[in-house]
Formats: sequence, structure tokens, C-alpha cells
Amino acid sequence: MEYQSSRGRSSAVKSTEAIIMGIAPDGGLFVPDFIPRLKDNFAQAMSKLTYQERAAEILSLYLTDFTADEINKSINMAYNEEKFDHAAIAPLVKIEDGLFIQELWHGPTSAFKDMALQMLPHLMTTSAIKTGEKSEIVILVATSGDTGKAALAGFKDVKGTRIVVFYPRDGVSKVQKMQMTTQEGENVYVAAVQGNFDDAQSGVKRIFAGQDFTLQLEKHNMKLSSANSINWGRLVPQIVYYVSAYLDLVADEHIKSGDKINIVVPTGNFGNILAAWYASLMGVPVNKLICASNANNVLTDFIKTGTYDRNRSFARTMSPSMDILISSNLERLLFEITDHNSQKINEWMENLQKQGKYTIDEKYQEIIQDKFWADFCQDDETQITIKSFWDQHKYLLDPHTAVAVNVWQKYLDATGDKTPVVIASTASPFKFGKSVAEALFKVEDDDEFALLQQLADYTHDSIPSAIKQLPEKEIRHQTVCSTEQMVDTLMSFLHV
Ligand SMILES: *Cc1c(COP(=O)(O)O)cnc(C)c1O
Repeated sequence: MEYQSSRGRSSAVKSTEAIIMGIAPDGGLFVPDFIPRLKDNFAQAMSKLTYQERAAEILSLYLTDFTADEINKSINMAYNEEKFDHAAIAPLVKIEDGLFIQELWHGPTSAFKDMALQMLPHLMTTSAIKTGEKSEIVILVATSGDTGKAALAGFKDVKGTRIVVFYPRDGVSKVQKMQMTTQEGENVYVAAVQGNFDDAQSGVKRIFAGQDFTLQLEKHNMKLSSANSINWGRLVPQIVYYVSAYLDLVADEHIKSGDKINIVVPTGNFGNILAAWYASLMGVPVNKLICASNANNVLTDFIKTGTYDRNRSFARTMSPSMDILISSNLERLLFEITDHNSQKINEWMENLQKQGKYTIDEKYQEIIQDKFWADFCQDDETQITIKSFWDQHKYLLDPHTAVAVNVWQKYLDATGDKTPVVIASTASPFKFGKSVAEALFKVEDDDEFALLQQLADYTHDSIPSAIKQLPEKEIRHQTVCSTEQMVDTLMSFLHV
């Protein structure tokens, strides 16, 4: 399998090269030249497999230049009992008949980003060896909170790599911030940016695009790469858990092989839901993919109207990892539904850059609406959803997952569709404990960690140990910079 750029102006590469480069030289995203199909009887054939074995089958369909041994080693380093606190890795929890929550947050940083970012460093270092890459790989990340910590945890002390993370100073939760500022490791650098996530992300994109800086790094035997969800090496491990959810449903006889399911995904950069869509193209029977947004509802409007318009005010919400106005991974969906029409993609992306918006043709809009349904949810609704879901099911939702549940309820009201549903749960409620606690009871304590304990007592749940230990950890990263200073900050980190 080869990977081409969605913009069509770079030559096709192998998966190892796509993973090392992160983004294509023409600014496009790497996309597989075809979507592999699962065997017709995959549900029977694979339902007895462990999560790791399922991952091996799926990764080998995409990473065709890796050996089985290389894939297995990466899987075993990523998904093991030291890193994940649940043997099933991505357990599917039955809430009631037809309603399932897939918990994607049992990794070391308590958010679903671990599912991919525990794997990516191993795919990347293996790729470096295979392609004869001699430079040190510098991973540059803009984060809305969860990616940064998950990338730091994944790349920490991985030989041949360094990792630099920029996060919006006022756009992350207290726990998220502490997770990053206390990060240990010899190859890790963290800076707060004065701005929001889109500012940080635009800054990082400018750095990637800047030739001078790339040359400067080359002189020091370094090479930039990306761990943002534009990197193909992040997307492919995400496809695994959607296939796995389906296999679990069949294995536990909640559905019969071939039955359709709906999947609801709390969405920001469109990476996670894109992986679900790839799973459906591979043959997982999916009726609807439900795209749930918070007040930053640019995707809701896009799916409903065909116009993507980022010209709107940016809202800071209680689901900060979805506070995004430019969903980069949408480009991969557009590439696929236009039958790989790079010319269209270039046109739309230029419009997005110049006018902040673009409109797709009606026929493409129909293709999207055939598979996707979208709505959004305000913070007050998110809060009510956390409380009512707790009251009704004694199951605690984090704010991102609550957005998904709320939008799913809107979908039910609108359609009456009774198809069994899997809701992707993207974070532990303790990662956003303050917001969750405020939804449940009157909060008086200012100390977030005391509050987490209160929340644990209230719900008889336990705080994930990595979060519980945060207050005792030394603060190791205190750099703050403006968006204009990001390059200089990076240079001083790397001593170039
Ligand atoms: C990143 C993130 C999301 C959004 O996922 P995308 O792949 O960017 O759409 C949702 N919830 C949580 C908790 C996240 O960390």
C-alpha cells in the first residue's frame, strides 16, 4: 500500500515514510491509495482474538512495509498491562440494551489519545530504522490539552526522538496543565502559548511550513515530525478499536454478525470519527456515524449545510479538547468522497485559508449526509447530561463523552432510530473532575485535587493513580511565549 498526499502535489510514499514525515511536503495529509476490506466473515473470525491480536490484523493491512514482527513488537510495547489499567485495553461497557460505551481512556494519561500515542513512537522509531533515517526526530505538537500529555508520555525517553509541546495557556484544565508541566524525561520540552488552541496549531503549522527553520534543523542533524492527528501513524491505531467494539458486540451476543450499529464520537479535529468511518469503509456494518460537537459547532453546520465556515467566535467550553474551529482531518474525508480529487481539495483548502470558508458540491454533501449525522451541545446541556446519566445509570461521564451522549439523545428524538449504539468515551471523568463535580453537587472547595477525592467518594469510583499523584510532582516546565515567539522558543529548547 502506498500513501499519497490529499493535495496531489507530492509523490506517493510507503507507510514508514508517511509516518516519519507526518505531513506531506505539499501541505496535504497522507492518505492510503485504497481502503483495505475485512473478510466477509471477519466478525466470526476475529471475535475470539485479544485486543492486541485484533490490532495486529488491522495494522498489517495498512502498514504493508512493516514485518509482522515489527508490528507485533510495537503493539506489545503500546498495549500492555503496565501502560493500561484494563486488560481489555478498550473495554465496551453495556449501559442498557442497545446502549454501549467504549472506554478509550484506560491508558497512562486517562484520555483516548493514548490509544494512538502509545503506539506512534514505536511505529516512528521502527520507520526511522527501516528508511535509514539518521537524523534525530523532533516531534512538534500543538495541543488542546490531551494530545500534549499523551504525546509526552508516549515519546518520553524514546531513543532518537525529542518532543516539544505547545499548549494554549488558558485553554486547558488544571489537571491537564499539571500533567504537562510535571512531565519527566530527558527529551521533553513544554511551553504555554498566549492564545487559544487554533493560535497554537497555526503557529506549529507555520513552523512546519518554514523552509529556513527546517534547513537550520537539518544542519544540526534534526528533522521535524508531527504527532498531531494528521500523522497517519495516529489514525491507524484508532481504526482498531472501532472494529474491536463491533467484535465485542458479536462475541457477547448483543448483536449478530452483519447487524448494523451506530457510533457516536465527540469530535474536535475529526481524527477519531474519521477512524470510525475508515472502519465502516473496511466493512464494519455501520448505519450512522454521529458527529457530536460542543459550542464550537463548525462541523455540525458543515455536515448539515455543506459549508465549512470558521468565521465565528471561538468558545471556551467545559470540553476543551473539542474547542477547535479547524478540523484538519476533514481533508481526508473530502479526499475520499471526491474519489481522490486533489484539485477540489486544493480549491477548498485555499478558500479556507483565504476566506475562512468553503462550500462543497451538493453531490458530495449527499454522500456525507448518507453516513453522518451531526449536532452540538452547549455547556449547560453537557452539565445536565452528566447529572442525569449518573442518576439514571450510575455511570460517570466526562464532559466530552457527555457531549456525545447529549447529541445521541438529540439524534434519537429526531429519528427514533433504535439501532444499537456505541458511544466513544474519550476521557476519564477524573481528568475533568472539576466540571464533572460541579455537574453533580455544590462545589465549595477551590482545591481541584480535594475535589477529585470528593468526587471519588461521591461515586465510589477511584481516581486514576497517575492523576492522584500529580500534586506531589515537581513542576519542570514553566516557559510561556506569545504565538510570535514560538519559533524562538523552539530554537532555544533545541539549542539551534
Ligand atoms: C482529542 C479529544 C477529542 C476530539 O478528538 P478528535 O480526534 O480531535 O476529533 C475528544 N475528547 C477528548 C477527551 C479528546 O482528548
